[in-house]
Amino acid sequence: MEPTLTIPPTRPVLGLTRAEFLAAAQAALPVGCGVAPELYRQAFTLGRFDFTHLGDSVPAARQALWQNAFAIDLLEPRRVVEEPLDLGTTAKAVFATHDGYEIETVLIPMRYREDGSVDSYSQCLSSQVGCRMGCTFCETGRMGLIRNLTAAEIVSQVVTARVRLGWQAKNLVFMGMGEALDNWEHLHQALLVLTDRSGPGYGYDKLTICTSGHAEGIRKLFALGWKRLNLSISLNSAEDRSRSRMMPVNRTTGLADLQQLLVGYRQRRNFVLGVNYCLIPGLNDSREDATRIAAFCAPLGRCMLNLIPYNPGSAPIALAPSEAEVVRFVGWLREDGVSVRRRVTKGRSIMAACGQLGNVELRRKQTTPA
Ligand code: SF4
Repeated sequence: MEPTLTIPPTRPVLGLTRAEFLAAAQAALPVGCGVAPELYRQAFTLGRFDFTHLGDSVPAARQALWQNAFAIDLLEPRRVVEEPLDLGTTAKAVFATHDGYEIETVLIPMRYREDGSVDSYSQCLSSQVGCRMGCTFCETGRMGLIRNLTAAEIVSQVVTARVRLGWQAKNLVFMGMGEALDNWEHLHQALLVLTDRSGPGYGYDKLTICTSGHAEGIRKLFALGWKRLNLSISLNSAEDRSRSRMMPVNRTTGLADLQQLLVGYRQRRNFVLGVNYCLIPGLNDSREDATRIAAFCAPLGRCMLNLIPYNPGSAPIALAPSEAEVVRFVGWLREDGVSVRRRVTKGRSIMAACGQLGNVELRRKQTTPA
């Protein structure tokens, strides 16, 4: 006769490392735990938590106990929009959470083969519904913070996109909706799951955390000592007054403090800090701006400045820069010794480009949970 079991609350498999899942399974279902490793593998590879592939080895009553104890928690794909360009197709997916919020994730072609076909993609992940950082150029910032995403919801963006949409992303970038470091607990757990070799199995060097300059979060990330994890910072101005106007986080952690923090951050000798700079005509595109960027980056060791032409959203604060303005600014940066990579704008027409996620329409789409 089977022992009497107390059913614990349902736990989302996608928010657990393999070790955590096995321990939780052992605690909840001490008999018949041999299937646990296979159930875990299936959750990430097939997006399923069922017994279809396990034959008759698990009695129906026991299957029900497993399914009461754990849930797969895939997100619900609501819409996918694509922007096909010569450089490959950028796609934005809108997923609904279990409580009816919509979040966005974007698949971006990043590397190309000699024949011009796409070799690999990056997936841009959301970490929050909305964001409290309030950057003036950003659609998500206008939403305010509605809630943090759980670790399972962060990981589920990758798994749902893989099993429902066929996306295969080699790299993951925390540059979608939200300030990832402002959701530390769930971000940390999601990173543990994403890098679990029995789960999604991403190498740390395939993951990039992008931050607006969240000092406490940068310190916590540093303390983890994950040497291969990539970090990038959204700079957008190297002058305190103008950065504080564009990015309120600068009022608490000014440029000098941020610079000091980043000088101390280097986790490995060949670490390259990403510095993202959204070029906005009339706001941060002068010759002096380029010189200030060079002075900010100089003590940071190896940096790669990603220059992103501003993408006007639903409430534009400026026009998009012209080609001539972008080329001129790149030239000034190079004159001043800054390594710069110009980002080709992808996804602008589908509101999937940098700063365009979390549009006003999305805010209104919040639905009442069933
Ligand atoms: S740019 Fe990033 S940190 Fe700033 S408001 Fe937008 S999502 Fe938040």
